[in-house]
Amino acid sequence: MGFNVRRYDGKLLIKPSQAAVRRIRERLAAEVRSLNGGNAIAVIRRLNPIIRGWAAYYRGVVSKEVFSAIDHYLWGRLYRWALRAHPNKSKHWVVDRYFDTFNQSRNDRWVFGDRDSGIYLRQFAWTKIVRHKMVMGTASVDDPALDWYWASRRRKAHAQLGGRTASLLLRQRGLCPGCGTLLLHADHGPQSPREWEQWTRVLTTALRKTSVVLGEVHGDDQTTRLMHADCRRREQRQRQTVQRQQNRRPQGLA
Ligand SMILES: [Zn+2]
Repeated sequence: MGFNVRRYDGKLLIKPSQAAVRRIRERLAAEVRSLNGGNAIAVIRRLNPIIRGWAAYYRGVVSKEVFSAIDHYLWGRLYRWALRAHPNKSKHWVVDRYFDTFNQSRNDRWVFGDRDSGIYLRQFAWTKIVRHKMVMGTASVDDPALDWYWASRRRKAHAQLGGRTASLLLRQRGLCPGCGTLLLHADHGPQSPREWEQWTRVLTTALRKTSVVLGEVHGDDQTTRLMHADCRRREQRQRQTVQRQQNRRPQGLA
């Protein structure tokens, strides 16, 4: 799951595992590499959702230092990316072009941005750390009480990933209420920050193309859900048929 749980003096300390930190660094490096020859806007558009998603997922278990260390690592990658983009320019020129206090609410001259549009890259450390008031002297990792803890923690993190699609996806665990199968073709529902991010993105596209739609689910719990368009249509047809049959029923027999 990407978390380390350790106990110190009866307190539970939870940190993203070293493997999770290594994975995000490797991913950032690969993304930046794949953006060779692109422009700053392409870099920002690609990386901002990744940064936002990862930071939101780990905000409850990570220290500021871990976020800052990843920012620093990414900065080095982007600096090299910029140098490669302008082999004939000086380091000063490159730094002046891509790094500035683009985010006016941050007193940081080293924010990566696009000078023409003013859009800039987020930093992991801008995401506020949320401290959980959790001291569990006796809990062990496979304690069922912790299942609840993880589940509620994940719910909170994902609600903050933003957007109605993301929060519906989270509530439905990736399932269509019409047929009970996954909304997208996949082996399993989204299980990691990266998968949540991918699912949200694909579902947003699916909503636009109306292969997935928002529908009211009837029954005890009348709320809007993400549904397969086919399942939605089938449900509507069934309701209409039932209604027609009820209307047709001769009086006196009802
Ligand atoms: Zn369905």
